[in-house]
Amino acid sequence: MAKLYDLIIIGGGPAGLTAGIYAGRAKLNTLILEGEKAGGQIVTTDEIENYPGAVEDPTGPRLVERMLEQYKGFGGELAFEKVESFDFENKIKTIKTNKEEYQSKSIIVATGAKPRKLGVEGEDEFTGKGVSFCATCDAAFFEDLEVFVMGGGDTAVEEAIFITKFARKVTIIHRRDELRAAKSIQEKAFANEKIDFIWDSVIDKIEGDGIVEKMTLRNKKTGEETVIEAAEEDGTFGIFIMVGYLPQTEIFKGHIDMDEAGYILGDANMKTNVEGVFVAGDCRQKPLRQVVTATADGAIASISAEKYLEDAFKE
Ligand code: NAP
Repeated sequence: MAKLYDLIIIGGGPAGLTAGIYAGRAKLNTLILEGEKAGGQIVTTDEIENYPGAVEDPTGPRLVERMLEQYKGFGGELAFEKVESFDFENKIKTIKTNKEEYQSKSIIVATGAKPRKLGVEGEDEFTGKGVSFCATCDAAFFEDLEVFVMGGGDTAVEEAIFITKFARKVTIIHRRDELRAAKSIQEKAFANEKIDFIWDSVIDKIEGDGIVEKMTLRNKKTGEETVIEAAEEDGTFGIFIMVGYLPQTEIFKGHIDMDEAGYILGDANMKTNVEGVFVAGDCRQKPLRQVVTATADGAIASISAEKYLEDAFKE
């Protein structure tokens, strides 16, 4: 017989871990399923300036480490397993992972989001060979080299500023002639002597011989193509693609209501349309995706699950 939990949380980022902390405190028998390493996207963040209280050692990995310790301190379980199929229709829900089968009385979906890809030639082939989606992870590899950052949002512009700590020069490529990033972030980028801009342009092709050596840009207004080649002394350059995120909700399509973009719909109590199934964090449709909103979602979802358990499983 598969083990029966009070609550299974799918996803171990700030939303899932916070839900786990609250559930552990409420003495719910809880399991977090995390496909990769715990922490979600925030572990790729070098500095969290806007999470209240994250003053000392405010890196993504440290923040998550502390959340994880806190969760485990309350007796919560964590398994690094990928959910492959599930049945949420009945009162007792089942989940099959790549290793085990579990049963649970309630579920919180906190699967987060992942970086959006451009879908251009060479993007996949050169990922890890000059193309990156994570500045914290990879910026140091580009010490004294040239780097291009695709995107005009908060992430692209903030990370471009971060990459200037390493790279000789950073060029932000944006598909329009105006950045989407917050004005305060824009100002820092405009004032940074190492940062340049290419406007109205997109990447069409990335090429090289085992490592990025060449990239073709296209101006969206004029249609003009520009080929950028690595300086001879460098042999390569970096391309950081930071064009937003996509919710990791594919497997729930057709089972839990979501919007056209794939963000799961939850009410103010994080309830989804499926009884006993709640949602939290970046995979939820909402106006602001930050650690602070993810943790808030996690707390609410957990309390809602606890109330649901009290009502639905009253003896
Ligand atoms: P975002 O705000 O969605 O920005 C994505 C950027 O990529 C936009 O400039 C967009 O261009 C561009 N883009 C999208 N698809 C593209 C494509 N196929 N080809 C070329 N360019 C493309 O994403 P984000 O910057 O990752 O931010 C996500 C959320 O996190 C936002 O709510 C943001 O405010 C928040 N965030 C906050 C902070 C902070 O407060 N410090 C830091 C990071 C992120 P257009 O502008 O033309 O649409």
